[in-house]
Amino acid sequence: MPQDAPATTTETFDLTPPTDVQLHELVSDLSDEERHVLLEHGTEAPFCGVFLNEKRPGVFTCRLCGLPLFHGGTKFESGTGWPSFTTPYATDHLKYIRDNSYGMVRTEIVCSRCGSHQGHVFPDGPPPTGERYCINSVSLAFTPLGEPLPNKLGRGAPEGEPAT
Ligand SMILES: [Zn+2]
Repeated sequence: MPQDAPATTTETFDLTPPTDVQLHELVSDLSDEERHVLLEHGTEAPFCGVFLNEKRPGVFTCRLCGLPLFHGGTKFESGTGWPSFTTPYATDHLKYIRDNSYGMVRTEIVCSRCGSHQGHVFPDGPPPTGERYCINSVSLAFTPLGEPLPNKLGRGAPEGEPAT
């Protein structure tokens, strides 16, 4: 017997990369440190990121293009000095790249839409995923629950709609 379907949140974000013009505009908006981390695969110093102690429910988005990358509720206290999450907002919102720099084998994660560097993922996180997404604060922006998500590329809903 069919029932009234609950309001679903199967929102689809437009993952088409920004145009060169859009990218240029977005980049010109960044600080030097943001540029270094997002575009040159830098790492911010531990224990000074602005989102280290951000515990409100909401959505963390890519600092550069505004794509949702993590839910506030999946953040946990890792003790590493960087914001850490157990699971991405959506698996196709992140791209995983093998990183052999500094004599280590790590998995770098970048925003799948604009390619900006976010951090690394390690296999030593807590349940349920066992993954630890270790992210630079400067790579992120935060939208508290119920406030409008960024709509930096003018793509429209669900961007610009209240964060859920
Ligand atoms: Zn992005």
